[in-house]
Amino acid sequence: MPMIDGLPPLREVIAAHGLSARKALGQNFLLDLNLTARIARAAGDLSGADVLEVGPGPGGLTRGLLAEGARRVLAVEKDPRCLPALAEIAAAYPGRLEVIEGDALRIDPLAHLTPPIKIVANLPYNVGTELLVRWLTPDAWPPFWQSLTLMFQKEVAERIVAAPGSKAYGRLAVLAQWRAEAKIVLTLPPEAFTPPPKVSSAVVHIAALPEPRFPADAVLLSRIVAAGFNQRRKMLRSSLRGLAPDIEARIEAAGLKPTSRAEEISVEGFCALARELARP
Ligand code: SAM
Repeated sequence: MPMIDGLPPLREVIAAHGLSARKALGQNFLLDLNLTARIARAAGDLSGADVLEVGPGPGGLTRGLLAEGARRVLAVEKDPRCLPALAEIAAAYPGRLEVIEGDALRIDPLAHLTPPIKIVANLPYNVGTELLVRWLTPDAWPPFWQSLTLMFQKEVAERIVAAPGSKAYGRLAVLAQWRAEAKIVLTLPPEAFTPPPKVSSAVVHIAALPEPRFPADAVLLSRIVAAGFNQRRKMLRSSLRGLAPDIEARIEAAGLKPTSRAEEISVEGFCALARELARP
């Protein structure tokens, strides 16, 4: 049965191009175009935006993004086997899909994109967290992207949206919530993918705020959060000892308890500590 975009069903595309999934590339494909359209819609209105998609694979999500009206899609794919299938999609949507073959960790996509830019991806699990941390920690804020709509293992998604005091709360939560609004918009069972992964997945929508919720130096905040959560069972006075000789007094001056653990400290609290540590 022909699809809404006139292209063949994804199972046929995969068979025609011999796209057997490779574990080393984190290949778990979404073949249900209703589902990929739902993920595209979770990114909001795409009609006035360029979309960066990392890892289009056979193009299920790419087709969802284009069908939902994305102005342009730039897709970065490491597996050259996927390029002929993606070329067929580009031909069905003239001038709206550009595909770059390469490693998303090494490619600078900015030269190929015009703001406003949204990032939407069913990320390869092996590079997903690294890309997210990069996108959340640019030199300047607001970042080049307006929003991130990303599929992760459910456990990683829960770490991004976690609240203080929970087991999942850590560095990812502080980085995501300091300067952005993060929420889980969709949870998917393993069977939604081909082949099914071992765990459930979830789509997180992260919208960049125009400015950080609380003032703080980004590099200092990152160092504090990394040190605090590296030894998350330890009290702050001990886990942050390397950051200042008078750390206990500094923690108190920031309105926090030196005996607290990192997982009890809110984003606001970490920012207060970063401001305190920035003082001479
Ligand atoms: N977007 C497709 C979908 O939803 O069905 C495929 C998603 S699959 C989870 C991840 C995709 O990322 C694969 O196509 C894989 O080849 C690609 N990939 C893996 N590592 C990559 C990297 N470093 N840079 C770009 N693409 C990569």
